[in-house]
Amino acid sequence: MDLNDTPEQADYRATARDWLARHRGGAPPRAGSNDDPDYVARRRAWQRELAEAGLAAVTWPTEFGGRGLGPVEQVIVNQEIARAHVPGVLDVIGIGMLGPTLIAHGSAQQKSRHLGPLLHADEVWCQMFSEPGAGSDLAAIQCRARPLPDGGWTLSGQKVWTTNAQFASYAMTLARTDPDVPKHQGLTMLIVPMDAAGVTVRGLRQISGEAEFNEVFLDDVHLDDDAVVGGVGNGWATALTVLMFERLTIGFGAESYGSPDRLASTIASDPAAAADADVRRRLGEMMTDLLAVRFNGYRALTALARGQVPGPEAGLAKVTLVNSAVRATELAADVIGPEALADEEWSYLISFIPGLKSAGGTEQILRNTIGERVLGLPAEPRVDKRVAFSELRAIERQAATG
Ligand SMILES: Cc1cc2nc3c(=O)[nH]c(=O)nc-3n(C[C@H](O)[C@H](O)[C@H](O)COP(=O)(O)OP(=O)(O)OC[C@H]3O[C@@H](n4cnc5c(N)ncnc54)[C@H](O)[C@@H]3O)c2cc1C
Repeated sequence: MDLNDTPEQADYRATARDWLARHRGGAPPRAGSNDDPDYVARRRAWQRELAEAGLAAVTWPTEFGGRGLGPVEQVIVNQEIARAHVPGVLDVIGIGMLGPTLIAHGSAQQKSRHLGPLLHADEVWCQMFSEPGAGSDLAAIQCRARPLPDGGWTLSGQKVWTTNAQFASYAMTLARTDPDVPKHQGLTMLIVPMDAAGVTVRGLRQISGEAEFNEVFLDDVHLDDDAVVGGVGNGWATALTVLMFERLTIGFGAESYGSPDRLASTIASDPAAAADADVRRRLGEMMTDLLAVRFNGYRALTALARGQVPGPEAGLAKVTLVNSAVRATELAADVIGPEALADEEWSYLISFIPGLKSAGGTEQILRNTIGERVLGLPAEPRVDKRVAFSELRAIERQAATG
C-alpha cells in the first residue's frame, strides 16, 4: 500500500485541517468526565458540529448522513483531530459500532428513525452486552427476552460495564430468546429505550473517580415488536458485526491518541529525564511498539480498501496498543512525579488506561484467538458448544447442589 495521501486524500486532509483550525477555539477540552453533565452537553454540541462538517460518520453512506468515504479518510480525520488537539465524537460506540450495525442489519424503519439523532448526538447509544457471568464468554448471556402475544417482548436480567448508559437514550442489547438450543443460537439483538419502565441504571465508580460505566437492571421491560435487530435467534451474528466494528474503531482510534507526542515533549522539556538512559530506553521501546501497531494497522487498512475484512491478526494491534499505552502512562508518572495528578489529562490517562486491558476483549482472549486462528495452534476445549443452554444451567445446578 502507498502510505502517502493521493491528491484527493491530500485535498480532504487540507479541508479537514482547515475546518478544525477555524473551529477548534469552540471545542471542549479533550480531557473531561462523561460523569459531568456540563461536559457531556459540550461534547454533544461538538459532535453535532463535527457531523455537520462531515467529520463524524466519515464511512457511513451519504443517505444516512455520512460522507460515504473509505477507512483511509476516517484515519485522516482521526489524525487531524489529534493534531488539532480537540476531542472527537462523544458517541464513539454509537457512531463507530452500533450505527454501522444498524446500517448492516437494521430494518428501513429502524435506520430512518435512529441514525440521524445518533449521528448528531441528540440520542446517544450504549452497548448492553456484558453481564456478571458473561464477559469473555459472551454467549453465556442470561438476560432473558420472552415473546408476548402482541409480538412484543418482555426483558429481564442484569447488564454490567455499560459505558455511557447514564446518559444514553437507547441500548443495543443481547438477550436470550431460546434457552433450549446451544448457547450461541438462542440469542437475539434488541433495541432498548433507556427511559422505558423497568430500566434502572447505577453508576460504577472507577479508580479515576468517575462513574463512566454502569450496571443496568432490566425488570420486565416491555419492548415493541420492532425492537429486534437482525432477526430473532440471529443475535450472535449481529453481535459479531458489532465486535468487528469495535475492533476497527479501537484500531483506527489509535491514530487519534495524541499522548505519545505529549509524553515525548514532557520528557524533552525535563533535562534530567531527557538525559536518563532508562527513560530514553523506555520511550524508545514504547514508540517502536506504536510504530509496529501503526504499520500493522495499515495492513488492516489495505484489506479494507480492497473491500476485504481484516482478519484476527487485527487483535494484535489492541494487545500491543494497550500495553504500550499502559507503559507510557507509567513512564509519565515516573518522569512527572506526583504533580502528574494535578494534570487533568495525565491523571485521567494514568487511572483510565489500565481498564482498556479488559474493554473490547481481554489480552488472554485475544491471544487465544491469535494462537488458534493466526498461528494454527490447537483450539481450547469447548464442551458446552453443542449442548442446549438450559441443560448447561441444569448441570451447573446439579454441581452446586450435588
Ligand atoms: C472501560 C471498559 C468499558 C467497557 N464498556 C462496555 C460496554 O459499553 N458494553 C459492554 O457490554 N461491555 C463493556 N465492557 C466489558 C468488557 O467487554 C468486559 O470487561 C470483557 O469482555 C471481559 O469480561 P469480564 O470483565 O467479565 O472478565 P472475565 O471474562 O470474567 O475474565 C476475567 C479474567 O479471566 C481471563 N479469562 C477468561 N476466559 C479465559 C479463557 N478462556 N482463557 C484465558 N483467560 C481467560 C480474562 O482474560 C480476564 O483476565 C467494558 C469494560 C471496560 C473495562
